[in-house]
Amino acid sequence: MNFSDSEIVASILTDEGFESSDDLLSADIVLLNTCSIREHAEDRVRKRLHYFRSLKKKNPGLTIGLLGCMAERTKNALMEEEQLLDLIAGPDSYRHLPGLLAQVGSGQRAVDTILSADETYADINPVRLDSNGVSAFISIMRGCENFCSYCVVPYARGQERSRDAGSIIREAKDLFLQGFREVTLLGQNVNSYLWGKGQNEISFSKLLEQVAKLDPLLRVRFATSHPKDLSPELIQVIASYPNICKAIHLPVQSGSNAVLDKMNRKYTREEYLEKIRAIRSLIPGCAISTDIITGFCNETEADHQQTIELMKEAAFDFAFMFKYSERPQTIAAEQYNDNVPAEVKERRLREIIDLQHELSSASNHKDLGETFEVLIEGESKRSNKQYFGRNSQNKVLVFPKTVQKPGEYIKVKVNRVTSATLIGEEV
Ligand code: SAM
Ligand code: SF4
Repeated sequence: MNFSDSEIVASILTDEGFESSDDLLSADIVLLNTCSIREHAEDRVRKRLHYFRSLKKKNPGLTIGLLGCMAERTKNALMEEEQLLDLIAGPDSYRHLPGLLAQVGSGQRAVDTILSADETYADINPVRLDSNGVSAFISIMRGCENFCSYCVVPYARGQERSRDAGSIIREAKDLFLQGFREVTLLGQNVNSYLWGKGQNEISFSKLLEQVAKLDPLLRVRFATSHPKDLSPELIQVIASYPNICKAIHLPVQSGSNAVLDKMNRKYTREEYLEKIRAIRSLIPGCAISTDIITGFCNETEADHQQTIELMKEAAFDFAFMFKYSERPQTIAAEQYNDNVPAEVKERRLREIIDLQHELSSASNHKDLGETFEVLIEGESKRSNKQYFGRNSQNKVLVFPKTVQKPGEYIKVKVNRVTSATLIGEEV
């Protein structure tokens, strides 16, 4: 999401005559787009600011700005603490950046963190930064109103709002015409996407279908799905279109009903597992990945075991796993006690990471001898004689270079697997 936002910022500033640069040392303005999701993310931003301080010493004319969630969350307080900052802009203030930079140019520090109920940057055609020319992100909605008790997003990114469906379809079509072959539709909870009213209403399933229909050669992915809103209709649409990728990211967070309730996730372990069964039976070969938080307030050893059991039952292909990090303003920070000791969080995290390692490895071993259609993304990092690409399940495959080029499809048979990669050759 932040990456996609940086592309919107680049577009707004490019239209004003600014140019983006890969070289930090020659830049006149540095904008740091930030995340607040865990304390660790904010610590990294502080470290980076520390480094920028040394740059500013060498080049006092350098303008330094902070964008995104951390800017929104901390507002003026951060401006007070970090004297090197010239500018702070929240996620809904990017259209004002040219004005804010002008204000900095006239010698004043500038802050704009007003959240909007309707800003979706729908009309902005993002400048593709660091692009491989093959895959791109399309932001389809902003904000979140689910208020999971641990999560800072509703405070840092504001109300949920969907972007004009027509502008999304146009952006996908333009990307395809430019040679892109894969788009990922992005939102905090894409399943609650809704545009228009009555007969003209476009749900996420309909939007996904419309993007998939643009061209069979355009792969479509999406993230993230909230389990409470994953509908049978959506599963049906994914199953019906070969170019809608067979990979669903469905964050479970915990396998214990008591913890899920405290997290305000609005589904039970049984309901979650029922959705997994529906996906597995209606979309054979679909990869399922998840997010898990360990050590949330009051999480007992029995709760932790339930997460372990759920992971085994769901047999996730991949997972992002985190220790619970208390975030200011959230319901959990205000009302619950962050009472699982650090060493217990650490141990539980290690246990789920080790288990996921086994599950991912088993999932990869199942692919041995299988042939997949792979979209070539570029040269492998390890060898210039090899390409890498992904299959529909979002697994990375590495294989010897062929006459096909990045952006083209190729059939690859898997001969060998590592814990993270499938290795094969063209068939
Ligand atoms: N909207 C998505 C959803 O609800 O599934 C997730 C968005 S969040 C940016 C990505 C992940 O960060 C979450 O799924 C959760 O696992 C993790 N996360 C969020 N808040 C956290 C916190 N306070 N401590 C640890 N992990 C957290
Ligand atoms: Fe955070 Fe929950 Fe919204 Fe995801 S759905 S962004 S976890 S509040």
